Amino acid sequence: MILIDGKVIAEQVKAEIAGEVKEMIAAGKKRPHLAVIIVGHDGGSETYVASKVKSCEQLGFKSTKIEYEDTISEAELLSKIEELNKDADVDGFIVQLPLPKHISEQKVIEAIDYRKDVDGFHPINIGRMSIGMPCYVSATPSGIIELLKRYEIPTSGKHCVVIGRSNIVGKPIASLMMQKSVPGDATVTVCHSRTRNLKEITLQADIIIAALGKPEFLTADMVKDGVVIIDVGTTRVPSTETKSGFRLKGDVKFDEVAPKCSYITPVPGGVGLMTIVSLLKNTLLAAKGEIYG
Ligand code: NAP
Repeated sequence: MILIDGKVIAEQVKAEIAGEVKEMIAAGKKRPHLAVIIVGHDGGSETYVASKVKSCEQLGFKSTKIEYEDTISEAELLSKIEELNKDADVDGFIVQLPLPKHISEQKVIEAIDYRKDVDGFHPINIGRMSIGMPCYVSATPSGIIELLKRYEIPTSGKHCVVIGRSNIVGKPIASLMMQKSVPGDATVTVCHSRTRNLKEITLQADIIIAALGKPEFLTADMVKDGVVIIDVGTTRVPSTETKSGFRLKGDVKFDEVAPKCSYITPVPGGVGLMTIVSLLKNTLLAAKGEIYG
């Protein structure tokens, strides 16, 4: 069994990005600039945004954090988005989700200029991804693909079972795994809460991507020997062993499933660490004009 080390790969990709930024600066170009809008004081969102800003600093990016109280109106937020769309110094920007209930997330996503949508949530980027055109791929699926690529895990002709069909993980990773590409070329089955014979399906899988958000859902009796497991789940469960009082649990019962696997990602230390790196990679692509000129 090989443990897929998200930390090592994330550090590798970060070092490559930092190297490219240095070259850009040496060539007299401006630093890649990521702007992040955060609304309200959701604990998780504040932590994510802080680490996005910190990673920008580490890699030599410019970053701008724009904070609003959760009383901001939808119109005010949309007007800020319009301003960032037009700001030539900003290469890419994101609006941290979730948003307060009175603001439509879909409206916000669609208001972002798709050429600056480094989260890859705009329907144009999602559509381009699904037909194999250059685009910004959203962070989690992009991080999973990077892990499969760097570990040279064969995917062509393999049966890949994705558990979960969300717009940010399940659907895009299913779409990427079925593309005519490497990694890709897999035969993909997508399962969700209405799937009847889940265990029958997972037992046939060469690769399982678990993204359902149910801690330790996938057990040893549900997988065959030699399976590759990508565990996307990150659920906070109470713990007396940590200072914070909680710890992260994946969707896979790691201790019993790992001995049956050829490869497996741990939680934490797997997919999660790749997501910020993927966002920074998209921002670098935006700064270089590699996707949309
Ligand atoms: P989500 O929007 O809640 O979607 C969960 C999906 O799982 C849904 O499609 C749901 O089916 C399906 N599902 C739920 N219970 C199921 C069951 N018993 N059997 C089969 N399918 C079931 O979640 P998400 O945003 O995709 O996130 C999934 C997990 O990944 C969460 O733990 C989240 O925290 C984590 N995550 C991690 C990262 C990272 O960077 N590591 C990034 C994003 C998300 P229905 O569609 O029928 O409801």
